[in-house]
Amino acid sequence: MAQEPKPFIVSDSQSQSIEPTIIPRDEHVISRSQISEHALTVLYRLKNAGYGAYLVGGGVRDLSLGREPKDFDVATDATPDEVKALFRNCRLIGRRFRLAHVHWGQDIIEVATFRALTPPEEAEAGTRVVEDGMILRDNVYGTIEEDALRRDFTINALYYNIADFSVVDYAGGMADLKAGRIRLIGDPEVRYREDPVRMLRAVRFAAKLGFQIDAETAKPIPWMAELLDDIPPARLFDEVLKLLMAGQGVETFEALRQNGLFRYLFPATDTAIDDDEHGALISFLAKALASTDKRVNEERPVTPAFLFAALLWPAILAQLPGARLQTDINRELFEQAVTEALERQLRQVAIPKRFSLPMREIWALQPRFDTRSEKKAKRLFTHPRFRAAYDFLLLRGEAGLAEPGLAEWWREFTTNSADAPPPTPARRRRRGGRRGRGGGGANGSAEDASG
Ligand code: ATP
Ligand code: MG
Repeated sequence: MAQEPKPFIVSDSQSQSIEPTIIPRDEHVISRSQISEHALTVLYRLKNAGYGAYLVGGGVRDLSLGREPKDFDVATDATPDEVKALFRNCRLIGRRFRLAHVHWGQDIIEVATFRALTPPEEAEAGTRVVEDGMILRDNVYGTIEEDALRRDFTINALYYNIADFSVVDYAGGMADLKAGRIRLIGDPEVRYREDPVRMLRAVRFAAKLGFQIDAETAKPIPWMAELLDDIPPARLFDEVLKLLMAGQGVETFEALRQNGLFRYLFPATDTAIDDDEHGALISFLAKALASTDKRVNEERPVTPAFLFAALLWPAILAQLPGARLQTDINRELFEQAVTEALERQLRQVAIPKRFSLPMREIWALQPRFDTRSEKKAKRLFTHPRFRAAYDFLLLRGEAGLAEPGLAEWWREFTTNSADAPPPTPARRRRRGGRRGRGGGGANGSAEDASG
């Protein structure tokens, strides 16, 4: 079973056939009791109708590691129409490549027909269409082997076969799972060129799982990172949420910086923290990320508005030398710095209005904390965005980015004042709302953004 990983070979138009490693039921830890009822229903119904049916991707990876998967994806040799014929609660989605979604209320099991590899000449000719990072031709179905080899990392290309409960491994993923290794399938440069977002995914999975990025997979990242400039800002927004709002933001941020990726996501912030001699800006970001991680891991609601407000704060301060401590601020210059920082950022990573508006409010309220007048403070309590802006001030204080004593004064006054709005009570995050519409599971209110 512990065979060497097989090389990824692509001849002119077809991949050379390779033998998978089959890991039998008694040699892996995945059991049906850990798979959701709905995923099992889909797998069995496909199998009983005579089709191949496999659990694939993050579900197999996470179960193998004893983790709870976010969701379950199924791969099959049945065409989307054949899948639809088996399930009343099934909808076909996607224009270029059709996928079947089998619905049970909020829970959706995604069923994908095995996809063919894109021949290299076609990928190079620029005829590719990328949808969710996968290179697509219109509904070109393939074999399980082709489906495996077009996935990104070896650990994401394991197939749990419902017919005999074995795991099918075409790329050496099981060995990499055991070794704690993030390794791209195939030639890293080719794979990054096909889809530069894979560089971000490498860092994300490494931080999430506590794995090392394999040397060959890591090597091209610093010089290929600039390819991220060509990725649509809306897709990068989704990726940033997955990177920084999934509970390992601190580690992920460090890894993004180390690999030279952060500056393609937050260019002005990256420059600002590089130029910052005292390290207060980076300490501010680390605190903001740590507080978000804590909330995520306690299953309390979080919002991108608060974290993005923090992530861009260094970029705003960089334009307002002397405004770090926020005394004597010129409102007009401040407004201008905010607008410029936001505009620059939106060219890189699109931030939907429903988050950028509260961000602006959090920032705009900061100069109003520049007082120790109880009367003014009470007036500020009534602002709907008070709580988020106040949490933001506390972070500034902790990082030495506020006038000494100011945050403490506010903490004291807010804690002891009957008029202060209370922190939003902790409530459990909803599970199951998968592939959220760009919100990425971030359903909290801004009032509730930081601990
Ligand atoms: P997560 O726990 O974050 O959902 P995941 O592995 O399930 O991790 P998804 O983004 O949900 O990640 O993608 C599902 C699967 O699709 C992956 O496991 C991988 O096999 C494949 N995949 C996703 N994105 C890419 C990509 N950019 N290039 C190649 N394969 C990809
Ligand atoms: Mg997934």
